[in-house]
Amino acid sequence: MIVEFKDLKKQYQMIKPQIDIIIAEILSEGNFILGSQVYEIERRLAEYVGVKHCITCANGTDALVMILKAWGIGAGDAVFVPDFTFFATAEAVAVVGAVPVFVDVDIETFNIDPKKLELCVIKTLQEKRYTPKAVIAVDLFGLPANYIEINRIAECYNLLVLEDGAQGFGGKIGEQFACSFGDVATTSFFPAKPLGCYGDGGAIFTGNDNLSQVLNSLKVHGKGLDKYDNVRIGYNSRLDTIQAAILLKKLEIFSGFELEHINELAKIYNDNLKGFVRTPVIPDGYYSSYAQYTIQTDCEGQRDKLQMWLKEKDIPTTVFYPKPLHLQTAFKYLGSNRGDFTISEQLCKTVLSLPIHPYLSEDEIAKICEEIKICLT
Ligand SMILES: *Cc1c(COP(=O)(O)O)cnc(C)c1O
Repeated sequence: MIVEFKDLKKQYQMIKPQIDIIIAEILSEGNFILGSQVYEIERRLAEYVGVKHCITCANGTDALVMILKAWGIGAGDAVFVPDFTFFATAEAVAVVGAVPVFVDVDIETFNIDPKKLELCVIKTLQEKRYTPKAVIAVDLFGLPANYIEINRIAECYNLLVLEDGAQGFGGKIGEQFACSFGDVATTSFFPAKPLGCYGDGGAIFTGNDNLSQVLNSLKVHGKGLDKYDNVRIGYNSRLDTIQAAILLKKLEIFSGFELEHINELAKIYNDNLKGFVRTPVIPDGYYSSYAQYTIQTDCEGQRDKLQMWLKEKDIPTTVFYPKPLHLQTAFKYLGSNRGDFTISEQLCKTVLSLPIHPYLSEDEIAKICEEIKICLT
């Protein structure tokens, strides 16, 4: 059985005629930077998410960095981030000179635990070493974080809220789409994300006119009236015209059937795996875009045995993530120790992400589930 963890090749085969024409057009027109397709995808994305402004940029990490910069966050400031996420979430905080304060996550949703967030904010305020400024909540594996609680805490302690929706695009709480929660949100178009392009890309979403204007300047060398009038120190962080055009086509199929279909496939996994492993928990009223389908095993030994078993059957799996942020070498200077974040550490030992993408067949999922059951019984 040949199953791909993410099948970008199958997706390309389906849209190949249109994609090839789109790319050929840009090559012959030569408008590689800030072509009309960039503004068009910004309009479409803002409309899809339901937010006034979308500012595209070079990648999801730049998106985070530029927001923190626009907010004036830097040395002496504390930004709260979940301990269980991709490195970039906390890296962005360190890049602008602020201190990432790790917060443990919820064992069921994998997302930042609001109760622990509040305790961390109180502790940071009492210590008086750093000034709490913002929280970056991550929509891990496609599931929106608990923004109802996060926004309440942020209001209470006067914190800005940044939604890191790099994996969250397409998710929902009720009828409200991911990348519209908090003061501002980011996403990534890295190929394997829910909405991916054919290279690097990212976007920022906000309803704030002033912030949008500053970000549009920051991404082009801090431009004022034009790029040779520079009013602030900025970045070179634009989405290429080719990537924008690809995203226009991909957004069409993403909202047309991919998102819905991936949820149907996740349900087949759930039905088949119930009782054998812990399947993903989607709280009532929440909707996931299933950037990953991540199960939990009983212990590290069982997880590693299962991963090895599936590998022998040519079923690719990945451990997102094998190391919590507080134990990353790059964050050693923050002085955290093993045992400081028990849930996050446990998850690193027990999670396993199974193949999931809209081009996986129901038979393939049934076969994967069968192998999991054979291994675990
Ligand atoms: C992928 C990812 C990013 C970074 O996005 P890039 O486009 O790769 O820079 C940031 N945060 C999270 C949670 C991610 O998964």
